Amino acid sequence: MTVKKHMLSELTIIMSQMTELYDYVSVINPDRNEEWHINDNGEIETEIFGCHIWDGGEDNRNMDVAAACVKGKRIERVKEYDGNTYHILMVPVDYVSDTETVRCVLECVTRIEGVDYNAEENTKRGSAKRSIKDPLTGLYNWDGFFEKARETMDEQWDKEWVIIVYDIMSFKLVNDLFGEEKGDEVLKAVGNLIKSKCAPDEVCARLRGDLYAVCIHKENFDNSFIISASKELPGIIDSPQFHVHIQGGVYIVTDRSLMVSAMVDRAQLALSTIKGSSEQRLVEFDENLMEKVLKEQQIITDFRRALVDGEFHMFLQPQVSHRGVVKGAEALIRWIRKSGEIVAPGEFLDVLERTDLITDLDKFIWEEAAKTLASWKGTDKEGLYISVNISPKDFFYMDVYTFMNDLVKKYDINKKKLKLEITETILMQDALKQLALVNKLHDEGFDIEIDDFGKGYSSLSLLKDINADVLKIDKDFLQETENSKRSEDILGTVIDMSDRLSMRVITEGVETKKQLDKMIELGCYMFQGFYFARPMSIVEFERRWSDLGAEV
Ligand code: C2E
Ligand code: MG
Ligand code: MG
Repeated sequence: MTVKKHMLSELTIIMSQMTELYDYVSVINPDRNEEWHINDNGEIETEIFGCHIWDGGEDNRNMDVAAACVKGKRIERVKEYDGNTYHILMVPVDYVSDTETVRCVLECVTRIEGVDYNAEENTKRGSAKRSIKDPLTGLYNWDGFFEKARETMDEQWDKEWVIIVYDIMSFKLVNDLFGEEKGDEVLKAVGNLIKSKCAPDEVCARLRGDLYAVCIHKENFDNSFIISASKELPGIIDSPQFHVHIQGGVYIVTDRSLMVSAMVDRAQLALSTIKGSSEQRLVEFDENLMEKVLKEQQIITDFRRALVDGEFHMFLQPQVSHRGVVKGAEALIRWIRKSGEIVAPGEFLDVLERTDLITDLDKFIWEEAAKTLASWKGTDKEGLYISVNISPKDFFYMDVYTFMNDLVKKYDINKKKLKLEITETILMQDALKQLALVNKLHDEGFDIEIDDFGKGYSSLSLLKDINADVLKIDKDFLQETENSKRSEDILGTVIDMSDRLSMRVITEGVETKKQLDKMIELGCYMFQGFYFARPMSIVEFERRWSDLGAEV
């Protein structure tokens, strides 16, 4: 593995993030013989190691630290200490200060709770009997799973195994909307379904809440199960707006010496990376995931502070007619860090979309757009519009309809000037509800634009269901058109069809004169792309606006 370099401030963030996943986190600096951890105030505290690390001695921990440092490799162990069992992960990291770079170790420790590894022994000795079954579903519970999965893998040691952790998407909503009784029914039905896919010698459990785990033969691992399961589940709830879906995190057991709980941790870690995503239902753990999760968590921690500190900015990219006249612009978010580094949305939007933070970001940029439109009133820019992006998650987490209406009232702007861009991904979740909302916004007087048309697969069904005003042809489609006569024909047909549906067409991602001419030939008269201008700050947009050929 490549060992990452971090400054002290970064190590502090990493440690505070990791404390969410682990019970005890520290960084060990063997050269200084120090151990750093984060106190309750979020500050670093230093402890001195009893015995010098490089001396090794009898202490396994010192030896592990030394080995992780020297080999630059991760080390994992399970240790018994004071009657408790701990899972220990040591990751080498390079600590960079102004004067030196020192190889250190990030140590993450989890106390493995609720697992009695001497269960059989204890029962023989007559200690209190534990329940290993979940009364609601009849499946194994947390304790039962760890015991049975270990037993099964040990008994069939010549077989290969997979651990999958499943959870039900938006399960909280089931309880909130349909009541706990229905919630229990859903839990039982999902349990039965998962169990029905397991062979008799495989282990199936409900660990807690809506979290299930299975330990199955690798040869029986079928990643289409999750899709077929999603087809079997909708009937449980009698509502066209709500479908029960499950997501899964997979750990293919490559290291049998790991405790089952550590295997479950890995599967859960994988699952956490797709939680809330409507597109991805199953994900496999891989060793780089830990780093990815850390990076994502850092974005989440940084986000709120950055929003308050004014690091987010609305950039505008002009939308230009075939005569070169600027008619309006698309609002695109940019994160400009204090260092001056500009972070593009591709690096943080996905992460924010997996949490409800995306709504904070979108509310901010919509308000910026509305403010800007208000500031243009009575000026030569009064005729311009701004299109804003709406994430499908916004519809899920907030009341977009009320927010938009309040916004245009607050800034006293014409609804036609604040255009709303949606993508077909709104169909992925609660399709009917979201379609109804979008149509309501349209009927209220907002212009609806279908963004990224041609990028996905179900764009046509969106056209059927939504009264959109504008179709934005995706840049990928444009590029394909350059290479294929067939794509060109399709594009021509799409433009004709939009015409018949009284929709305007905007081509995105126009980079060359050749592309522009081709699209004009096919009947498109509005464009957005680097050929005309890249996204720019409001100040620059206002300054360059006249050069960009605005209509006067
Ligand atoms: P989008 O809405 O389709 O925006 C167009 C993207 O294409 C922008 O990328 C823009 O910089 C890029 N682009 C424009 N012209 C060209 C061109 O000629 N060539 C190439 N290669 N690219 C071009 P950006 O700003 O990185 O945004 C990416 C996506 O992130 C956007 O795609 C949109 O889906 C999303 N996004 C951006 N800002 C926001 C926001 O404030 N809220 C939400 N929810 N999503 C946003
Ligand atoms: Mg857009
Ligand atoms: Mg687009």
